[in-house]
Amino acid sequence: MADRELEPRPVLSIPPVEWREWMREHGHPAYRAEQLLEWVVHRRGTSFAEMDNIPLVLRRLLETWWVPLATRVAARDLAPDGTLKLVIECLDGRRVECVLMAEESRRTVCVSTQVGCGMGCVFCASGLNGVERNLAAHEILEQVLHARNALPAGETITHVVVMGMGESLANLDNLIVALDRLCSAEEGFGISQRRITISTVGLPEKILKLAALDRRYHLAVSLHAPTEALRDQLVPVNHKIGLTAVLEAADAYFAQTGRQVTYEYVLLKGVNDRAGDARALADLLTARQAHVNLIPYNPVAGLPYDRPDPESVTRFREILRHSGVSVTVRKTKGRSIDAACGQLRRRTAGVLDPSLESRS
Ligand code: SAH
Repeated sequence: MADRELEPRPVLSIPPVEWREWMREHGHPAYRAEQLLEWVVHRRGTSFAEMDNIPLVLRRLLETWWVPLATRVAARDLAPDGTLKLVIECLDGRRVECVLMAEESRRTVCVSTQVGCGMGCVFCASGLNGVERNLAAHEILEQVLHARNALPAGETITHVVVMGMGESLANLDNLIVALDRLCSAEEGFGISQRRITISTVGLPEKILKLAALDRRYHLAVSLHAPTEALRDQLVPVNHKIGLTAVLEAADAYFAQTGRQVTYEYVLLKGVNDRAGDARALADLLTARQAHVNLIPYNPVAGLPYDRPDPESVTRFREILRHSGVSVTVRKTKGRSIDAACGQLRRRTAGVLDPSLESRS
């Protein structure tokens, strides 16, 4: 334990108010906190040595106890459509990924919440090796920072989607600290709660806990199947939870927050993309104030699932639409760089043969 306490701490692991206290406690004026955070958040400072408006004696003190950041960009990959994927390495060497997508005036960053994932959805790359650990709040925050640093001058992050690696609500406490800080103007992001989407496999107790926090975050529930049997097969945690509990928790989220819930549905060829599946899904959702986001599967090397035919995607969408269910089909971004959940990290970790890259 003692050793751990002596490890240097990342600057963003405490919020601005605590930095002001720290400065005062160490005999420095509180505004030094603003200068320090300005360097880390806005001026891309990666060493204390370069922070030349901060007195040398304070820089030396900071160097003893702190590190500017907890993460670094270990690899980056730019797709022809402009989607940028960053592999983020933590101080302990563990890696997660975040993705920056540009569309019209939107600049959206997709962040990870855990190293690996414990949910084991059968088609997903993130859960193939289980979950290693939760990310700390500042490790989530720093992903947005790295993505923003990758933008051209004058552009800023407008939206955040919590759809990277990990089960978001399994790390709810750290996630909320990170998101609340992203929404505060004080640290310089000032993103509106309404522009943040939390995607979850559907953990009912955590959905209710999130609802009780009374934020305005947009909730997306990964449903993927309209029947208990099919969901059990695709989303193993469903055995313990059940569709009804997921839907009821989502209804409660809507009732509490007034925010319409989105249901995500990954379309897997011949598995859950049939007309009967669409009709069963419509039956579940017509009476609800819900939106469905259909996601044509992005194949993962080594997993036995394929992308659906365009005709079955259209058929699925039209069946929902004719039943009065609001529906969109997600545009696939960054396919050539494996910008789906967990894929790039595996490749850079040498888990996959790079020649398989062209598969998606
Ligand atoms: N654990 C959370 C968030 C992470 S995954 C959740 O389950 O929602 C974000 C979304 O991407 C989920 O809907 C997930 O099922 C989907 N997804 C995972 N792998 C995919 C792939 N290879 N192609 C398309 N979508 C995928």
